[in-house]
Amino acid sequence: MKGEQDPAPQSTPPPADNYMALVLLVDDQVMICEAVRRMLASQSDIDFHYCTDPMEALRVADRVKPTVILQDLVMPGIDGMELVRHYRQNAQTHSVPVIVLSTKDDPAIKSEAFQAGANDYLVKLPDRVELIARIRYHTRAYLDHVQRDEAYRALRESQRQLMRVNLELERLTRIDGLTGLGNRRYFDEYLAAEWKRGLRNRAAISVLMIDVDNFKRYNDAYGHLAGDEVLKQVSSVLQAGANRSTDLAARYGGEEFVIVLTDVTLAGASVVAERISQGVRDLAIPHGEGRVTVSIGVATMIPGVDPDEIVNAADLALFRAKAAGRDCVVLHEPSADPGSADPQSQREA
Ligand code: GH3
Ligand code: MG
Ligand code: MG
Repeated sequence: MKGEQDPAPQSTPPPADNYMALVLLVDDQVMICEAVRRMLASQSDIDFHYCTDPMEALRVADRVKPTVILQDLVMPGIDGMELVRHYRQNAQTHSVPVIVLSTKDDPAIKSEAFQAGANDYLVKLPDRVELIARIRYHTRAYLDHVQRDEAYRALRESQRQLMRVNLELERLTRIDGLTGLGNRRYFDEYLAAEWKRGLRNRAAISVLMIDVDNFKRYNDAYGHLAGDEVLKQVSSVLQAGANRSTDLAARYGGEEFVIVLTDVTLAGASVVAERISQGVRDLAIPHGEGRVTVSIGVATMIPGVDPDEIVNAADLALFRAKAAGRDCVVLHEPSADPGSADPQSQREA
């Protein structure tokens, strides 16, 4: 097709750019196909294919991937209009420009062709210069469209990737690397948010401060790595203890942990604390003469001025638990601190 001698009685302008046209002519008359082939033969930017069996047109189009389809209307077996509709419904040819080649310059047929999805309409045999110009025009529009589509898809995909990475980064900024619990920063944010919510709803919040007993001695005896393993195991007990969706277990720092419970009484919080205390004992991790244990301070309050209130109260209770000999749970006494509400009046959990 390309490279053949062509008398070229009319001059055609050279292609303005590097768009390669791939033309598929669907016409049952070989004579027409040959005539069009000759018209396009000398154009180095136009590759020409034809198909004389209309029943094969879609399959051939899927295979050769034309940038323009030239479509005859009157063919045996299937109507050209029907084929145009098929191109539009087929994923591969959905937006490929279709130039209808008709024997008649009839407004009614034109109208039907455009309604079926044709992009252009020429009367056979078309003028050579005009045919080439239209093939180039439709090819350029089509390839630009494909390129924009691909750029858009790539943009959407990179946006999706960016979103996934951002979500993962956000998750990582909340997680303690060693234990997988929430980190200190997340605890601060979470408590502040729950404190505000409790302030609006007059709902009680509980904080449990949990500290591993004599942990310095554990590290000294078994090594820091073994100590890290203990922190992980204790963390899994805490995670299991803070099992409601609104509970948060976090690493407060070093071998100290914290749990936030919402909508629970002091009695309910103390049940959770005792369960955790027992859970750590049940790990049965040898430590000197005994096993690894934790001390827990519990405070329950209806939110007031500052979330530091409840943290300080739980810390004070923890201090008392240590002073009482460790491996125990101590509840913050509201009477000892006139600034806090009386949580005993709360509904039992
Ligand atoms: P107490 O019963 O009074 O809490 O005594 P303690 O020894 O547990 O408390 P202290 O504050 O004296 O020591 C805490 C120890 O916890 C010291 C520190 O080396 C250890 N520690 C803190 N963070 C980590 C950690 O990430 N890994 C390990 N292995 N040890 C840690
Ligand atoms: Mg300790
Ligand atoms: Mg400590």
